[in-house]
Amino acid sequence: MNQLPSSLLASLTLFPGFEPEKFIAAHAESEKLTSLRMNPFKPIDSYNNYEKVKWNPSGYYLPERPSFITDPLFHAGCYYVQEASSMFLEQVLKSHLDLSKPLKVLDLCAAPGGKSTLLTSLISDDSLLVANEVIKTRVHVLAENLSKWGRANVIATNSDPKHFASLPGYFDVIVVDAPCSGSGLFRKQPEAIGEWSEEAVNKCSQRQERILADVLPALKENGLLIYSTCSYSSEENEAICDWLCEHEALTSQSCPVPEDWGIEETLSIQHKAKGYRFYPHKVKGEGFFMACFTKKASAEYRLKPSKNTVTRLSKQESALIPAWLKLDKPYELFKQGENIYLMHSAHIDELQRLSGHLYIKKSGVEVGQIKGKDFIPHHQLALSTYLSAEVPSISLDKTQALQFLKKEDLKITAPENGFHLVKFQGYGLGWVKILPNRVNNYLPKEWRILKNIEEYLV
Ligand code: SAM
Repeated sequence: MNQLPSSLLASLTLFPGFEPEKFIAAHAESEKLTSLRMNPFKPIDSYNNYEKVKWNPSGYYLPERPSFITDPLFHAGCYYVQEASSMFLEQVLKSHLDLSKPLKVLDLCAAPGGKSTLLTSLISDDSLLVANEVIKTRVHVLAENLSKWGRANVIATNSDPKHFASLPGYFDVIVVDAPCSGSGLFRKQPEAIGEWSEEAVNKCSQRQERILADVLPALKENGLLIYSTCSYSSEENEAICDWLCEHEALTSQSCPVPEDWGIEETLSIQHKAKGYRFYPHKVKGEGFFMACFTKKASAEYRLKPSKNTVTRLSKQESALIPAWLKLDKPYELFKQGENIYLMHSAHIDELQRLSGHLYIKKSGVEVGQIKGKDFIPHHQLALSTYLSAEVPSISLDKTQALQFLKKEDLKITAPENGFHLVKFQGYGLGWVKILPNRVNNYLPKEWRILKNIEEYLV
């Protein structure tokens, strides 16, 4: 393994709980941790007997890394493979918020979606998550992971942090899981050690300040800012906390952590702002830092209603929507162009307001299109949690499920022709259309498994 940077090690000796020998020894271990977090809306019991993550009731460690790509339940969104330390977000949310209340939550740096899927698992149905990713090429993976998670209370956007300044005081919670120098992942990715430099740390620190300054006007008075990095450097952690107290007049908040979790509470030099450090020799997880703050004052949120960009379905169109789509109030269908979406009715108005300010890439659950007299279901609907048990469906075994996920031809039959949900162990994977002499596989081609998995197709 590459040697850990000596200047980084020297800077860390100032922090409580940092033990250089043990820290270095933890990095020399060859064993890699694998953890995942379960989707509470798609419960499975396969992992119930595994070791639990102490700070997240849905988090588990696996004794070894399985082949996730060949597990249909992974594709069905029953769990998310997430580094355990990051799951601490749940504790911070639970200690500061009443999660049964309707909240507007922004996950500013959201791709690939680890924190966003955690947030949609915890917020109420009438709360709205805006999951944003500025880098265009990373938005599709975010949207895909949110689609697999299956919830309608999410909008995914592709906007620059400065675009959020036009939404003053809009959000109750803003999560900034900032781009950073990444030293916390040195154990997992030792090749990154060679790319680390003090100069890169300073650049990241300046960028973190810029991102925070851009987005903070969008936080409500008394709203909660949650800031995190996967860096050990104080320039990206405690120094940013001091900067937030000084330049943005935020108030540091603490989060109770039992001693046996091994998480170290630290204080920033000037403002004694509290932060939580994760060291791999003290916790079963990778290097991580999280801190949270409340905002004292904010401009009042007064967003003008935007132009009407959505249309409610006509009576004739509504009559073509199959009964197996659960449409209990307060959920509603609406159209943008030809595409039909499902959202909480309160969120449809928010979507219209936000679309005047942000680049919207995914709104709630896309359910399908009406073509002539037919309803063509969308892939997102198959993965969503809004289908009733009445949906025509076909249960696949593992080989068939993997064939479907490779977008191969399937040899399956059904008593009736037409669209069927294909399921694995009860969870939707996508749609097939049964025709008199063939079966059409409707998996979107960009979702198909590209890897050679022939050995699993026996
Ligand atoms: N929150 C994500 C999760 O839990 O899966 C991980 C986020 S990663 C640590 C940081 C993200 O910030 C990346 O997706 C990166 O593309 C994005 N990013 C990079 N530069 C940015 C910038 N200038 N402003 C906002 N986000 C940026």
